[in-house]
Amino acid sequence: MTTHPSVINPAQLPTPESWQQALANVVRQPEELFDLLQLDKSSLPAALAASQDFALRVPRAFVARMKTGCADDPLLKQVLPLGAELDYQPGFSEDPLGEMDCNPVPGLIHKYHGRVLLIVSGGCAINCRYCFRRHFPYSDNNPGRSERQQMLDYIRSDSSIHEVILSGGDPLAASDILLAELVEELAAIPHLTTLRVHSRMPVVIPQRITSQCLQWLTATRLNTVMVVHCNHANEIDQTVQDSLHRLKYAGITVLNQTVLLAGINDNADSLAELSERLFAAGALPYYLHTLDKVQGAGHFQVPEEVGQQLITALLARLPGYLVPKLVKEMAGARSKVPVSYGVSLADRP
Ligand SMILES: *Cc1c(COP(=O)(O)O)cnc(C)c1O
Ligand code: SF4
Repeated sequence: MTTHPSVINPAQLPTPESWQQALANVVRQPEELFDLLQLDKSSLPAALAASQDFALRVPRAFVARMKTGCADDPLLKQVLPLGAELDYQPGFSEDPLGEMDCNPVPGLIHKYHGRVLLIVSGGCAINCRYCFRRHFPYSDNNPGRSERQQMLDYIRSDSSIHEVILSGGDPLAASDILLAELVEELAAIPHLTTLRVHSRMPVVIPQRITSQCLQWLTATRLNTVMVVHCNHANEIDQTVQDSLHRLKYAGITVLNQTVLLAGINDNADSLAELSERLFAAGALPYYLHTLDKVQGAGHFQVPEEVGQQLITALLARLPGYLVPKLVKEMAGARSKVPVSYGVSLADRP
């Protein structure tokens, strides 16, 4: 009797989770996060209290990159609600960037020359505890069709605008159909040259970079830039590297922005490893942001001098293109504000 190669019924293979499923299945209950990571539950009541103010939300694939039993994990600290968030911090506000004053039509922020930011989707796949939008009125900024027409009219009527930044929330929380439609409408505006997408999705739900997504990103006359958001090298596993490579090899410029966060990435080793890991994945570091002074995030703050010293240390060990620009936001400034730094003098050539 001959043996036949076993035939595998594809229906019996586990189908990889779609991005929509991953987005729907995020961890929302603090208790579940504690169980998944076998954390000591003494801080669970505080996590529950803080999550009332700003909900816990974290994709399972991101949880899988955390170390079990480690309350100090740099990925966990970005998402775990803490009692400290509820302490009132003088000097921290609900709208630290003064964005509510630069919101001429719902869902559009025009703060800097030549570029506007569109809030395409109020929601995110992940809720980062330090987020400067944690108090932004999302509900007023989840544009429907008529708001979208208002945004497009605003851009059409101002020929000084060359670049549109799709932002949020996370713009990639919206469907590819909606995004493709929007990009087509934008590309029809002659004075626009550049489409930029600000998204944490390629890092937190890497399967979001589907072929349909690459299709609308590349089938446009606009030059496209994707700015992802990653704060620690441990966020970049093989799946993230693959998603960034898909973007890069489709011809999209891929940059990263990082927030300087106490206890997470405020040391030269972490930042150097992050830059190197990003480059290996096809992305270049763009900005290193000092924390926006948003109420509830004070415990993440790193003194500006420490940020300056960290950049000096990075310059002494990395090629220039792997050193991000250290910036802060100041309400009323015409750009992000560079934080200047010195260089260290060599004790040998
Ligand atoms: C950060 C930001 C931009 C983009 O600034 P770049 O320096 O070009 O990256 C545009 N609009 C708003 C409101 C921003 O916060
Ligand atoms: S992904 Fe960005 S916008 Fe969304 S919560 Fe995190 S920092 Fe905020």
